[in-house]
Amino acid sequence: MIIDLNCDWQAGRWCGADAETHSNIAMELLNTSVAASVSEEPPEGASSRPAAVESAIAGWEAVVGKVNVLRDEQTRQRYARCTLPRGTTPMAIVRPNSTTEVAHISRIAMECGIPLHPISCGKNWGYGDACAPGDGWAIVDLGRMDRIIEVNNELAYAVIEPGVSQGKMYEYLRERHPSLMLDVTGAGPDASIVGNTLQRGFGHTPYGNHFAHTSGLEVVLAGGRVIRTGFARLSESAAAQYVFPWGQGPFLDGLFTQSHLGIVTRMGIWLMPKPEVIAAFAFSVAREDDIGRVIETLRWLKLNDVVRSTVHVANDLRVISAQRGYPHEMHDGLTALPDSVRSQLRRQHGIGAWNVMGGLYGTRSAVAAAKRTIRAKFAGLARVQFFDRRKLAVARGVAGAVRKSRFGEQLARKIASAESVYDLLCGVPGRDHLRGSAWRAATAVDGQQVDPGKTGLIWISPVIPATADASQLLCRIMNSTFAKHGFDPLLTLSTVTDRAFVAVSSIHFDRDDPTECLRAQELAEELKAVLAQHGLFAYRTGI
Ligand SMILES: Cc1cc2nc3c(=O)[nH]c(=O)nc-3n(C[C@H](O)[C@H](O)[C@H](O)COP(=O)(O)OP(=O)(O)OC[C@H]3O[C@@H](n4cnc5c(N)ncnc54)[C@H](O)[C@@H]3O)c2cc1C
Repeated sequence: MIIDLNCDWQAGRWCGADAETHSNIAMELLNTSVAASVSEEPPEGASSRPAAVESAIAGWEAVVGKVNVLRDEQTRQRYARCTLPRGTTPMAIVRPNSTTEVAHISRIAMECGIPLHPISCGKNWGYGDACAPGDGWAIVDLGRMDRIIEVNNELAYAVIEPGVSQGKMYEYLRERHPSLMLDVTGAGPDASIVGNTLQRGFGHTPYGNHFAHTSGLEVVLAGGRVIRTGFARLSESAAAQYVFPWGQGPFLDGLFTQSHLGIVTRMGIWLMPKPEVIAAFAFSVAREDDIGRVIETLRWLKLNDVVRSTVHVANDLRVISAQRGYPHEMHDGLTALPDSVRSQLRRQHGIGAWNVMGGLYGTRSAVAAAKRTIRAKFAGLARVQFFDRRKLAVARGVAGAVRKSRFGEQLARKIASAESVYDLLCGVPGRDHLRGSAWRAATAVDGQQVDPGKTGLIWISPVIPATADASQLLCRIMNSTFAKHGFDPLLTLSTVTDRAFVAVSSIHFDRDDPTECLRAQELAEELKAVLAQHGLFAYRTGI
């Protein structure tokens, strides 16, 4: 049974002694997931039931047209491609253009017992790309639903459909609402906003925690019922629906993140008014053991509101992977790199064991005060540098003048890297950051050319409390487990809340080498198991 979210709650049943509890509603939804049934194991696809498949296909074709139901081998294989050692192959791809069409698709899927997997832009690289959790599911590709329905300049929010990419939204704001900016991820201009937010992904600015900056969802439930969350369930024209996420009663939005409990067809997202000043801060520490002091100091800065942005603490290999390909020439192409090679690379790139980067946003005086505090807090540990677009332009001029020297080359590399990170701080999505995903490619790949779908990449991203002990434990686990399987740990710790860091680690492997694929999978499994033994779990999982 599907709970009648509109009628039951409007009648006020949730706000008395006989209130519908949050978990009752969750259970109802769990029983009616768009994945058809939710159990420990992902549900089977429908390939073993040809009559059901044909019936679903005919129904979907009647709804969206033959041209938008794709089931040819080539297309199915394209959607099966993924950075993980193994992807999954869909039975078909359905491409709706409206909420009504999604509702019909969902109803037909339920009638025919076909599990659905929605994708917004399908760039879920390192977690499964566009793939469903199992073979034989149908993918609902929402890419055609890419309308920006509203941008409210005064209240700084937008209402968008799932197919809106970061790149599209950025261009739209640049042209029509230049006083507003979007928080973007490093996943490039083609990645979505809605899919990323539903995975509880994060970016770089004070709005970096994406799910925390949404208000109001439109969702198609299994079987085709369409619901609106927040105040919009009381009235479609509720005045505060996009500025006050909670509405009245139980807060449902979280149920539709990292789940198959519904297909989100519309979302209100908050935009950031461009501040007077955006300044980046950056520094490196030489010793790996200094991670504890870095983490504790950043926690203080976050909890005391000196820094409001996401701050990223990247290890040496993460920074180097963004600037060049794997140093095959230094170690006969073998993983893992010995300490001596890593030290040599650090010197070449002028970086430390840990490299910190964050943003300061606000008025000139507020940013100046924050700079003073940050400098003082890290005194004795690191020399903090601050830069903005103007300083980067000056540095580029200097680098140009000395470009033929080794110093000039190193400076140019550092400036290019700082520019691409500064872009992210300003809400400009770029392709440069994709280069890191091709770290194990045979030859260095230009960030503009990278197709993560052709590279081997698994993200494992456990969350740690923002303490020195937790960060040191995490590093020990990462270093020893990666080394045991012969891989290099690439690691970034990011402050997604003021009290926690997400430790984004990535396993890079040669997808054309079956043995390396197997080793990468074994490492991923063991890493998850060891982390779990220590009470550490990923903020999001792949297929
Ligand atoms: C180099 C690189 C850098 C990256 N940087 C970041 C980063 O900075 N931050 C970050 O968070 N991630 C990052 N990623 C990971 C990933 O690529 C992004 O999270 C990306 O945004 C996910 O793809 P997408 O937005 O196109 O979402 P999709 O692939 O469209 O969706 C992701 C998942 O969300 C669910 N979903 C999607 N749409 C809907 C819907 N409408 N209704 C219900 N469920 C839905 C599905 O389970 C789907 O598989 C990075 C990856 C790479 C390779």
